[in-house]
Amino acid sequence: MLIEHLQARLDELQAQSLTRFTRVAETGTAPRQVVRGADGEPRELLMFCSNDYLGLAAHPAIADALVEGVRCYGGGSGASPLVSGHSRAHHEVESQLGEWFAPWIPQARAIGFCTGYMANLAVVAALGDAQAEIFSETLNHASLIDGTRLAKAKVGRYAHVDVQGLRQQLAASTARIKLIVTDAVFSMDGDIAPLPALLALAEEFDAWLIVDDAHGFGVLGASGAGSLEHFGLRSERLIVMGTLGKSAGLAGAFVVAHATISRYLLQAARNYIFSTASPPAVEHALLTSFALIRGSEGRARREQLARLQARLQAGIAALLQRHPTLPWRMAESCTPIQPLIIGGNAEVMALAAALEREGLRVPGIRPPTVPKGEARLRITLCATHTEADVDRLVAALEACA
Ligand SMILES: *Cc1c(COP(=O)(O)O)cnc(C)c1O
Repeated sequence: MLIEHLQARLDELQAQSLTRFTRVAETGTAPRQVVRGADGEPRELLMFCSNDYLGLAAHPAIADALVEGVRCYGGGSGASPLVSGHSRAHHEVESQLGEWFAPWIPQARAIGFCTGYMANLAVVAALGDAQAEIFSETLNHASLIDGTRLAKAKVGRYAHVDVQGLRQQLAASTARIKLIVTDAVFSMDGDIAPLPALLALAEEFDAWLIVDDAHGFGVLGASGAGSLEHFGLRSERLIVMGTLGKSAGLAGAFVVAHATISRYLLQAARNYIFSTASPPAVEHALLTSFALIRGSEGRARREQLARLQARLQAGIAALLQRHPTLPWRMAESCTPIQPLIIGGNAEVMALAAALEREGLRVPGIRPPTVPKGEARLRITLCATHTEADVDRLVAALEACA
């Protein structure tokens, strides 16, 4: 019965062109990666799909630091952080993050998690207790939404970047603790949340602002600290989550907040308490990643990203002008996430397949990840792409148009 039931669900997905599948990568994360095709044959593709925006995953200094970390600490951490899994490297990562974020969050203190998904569940569920009310942006990442499902708090949603709508909801709330929860950079659109306006509302209504900076950390701000630095915000009401598997090129995540909040998370976050700490070698290598992000190399890579973004936008704008009847449109984005909205599911998958025949991998993103009728190519850029890579993508799109 279960097998028949699930097979019927799978058939339904197939009929709507919604089946998801994994691809086997034979080489490491880089703009040129060998990936097995649907026929199982390995093939080198030009990738526009990774979130390794700074290209650090393939940086030789990261590989060396990982090896050094393994020599120093061996394999796994062996236990949860509260038992014996919290190595000197874990400690150092948290203390560097606390110091890094001090300009934007008074009394900043960091707590590390194994993944961003876990960090978001932890912070939203632990802070969203029965005394709280959560105000959640509609386009938030799935992990924040799942966090609200675990929370005991009342949960309301406000429309995408709708500051006025949020203001009305905050004004109507009688909750003792109010938590505004938002992505900083929306992962399927690439636009940035109006954080200064959201923080002003938090100040006005005695609320707290939880910011998921998965796509901002490393990319935005002069030192790569992310969206808080980008906007120059400063407040103890800011609670920021960053992932370390994207721009940092490794794995893991952190929450930085006022020290009392971070200390409370250590007592209350069930996925911190009941899960094995990340491998210490990864934490050791993160220290090298932080130095790269904050140093001149990180700055140079952020500048290269900005150049590539401008070139891609100009290239696609010119293409759309040459083909005025195409229903495609570029999303408004000033981040390395540059979506090209196509429309239907079958169309976007056919386009992604055609690009792949040309040797380019650009993933098609379909509902429910994005709204119906707004299926898109999610083009992501890395600092290790060249301008010629971007030109090749534009030329291949033109050929498909
Ligand atoms: C990727 C992502 C996460 C999850 O982070 P992981 O470390 O990959 O688990 C959370 N929020 C957003 C917006 C993301 O894009």
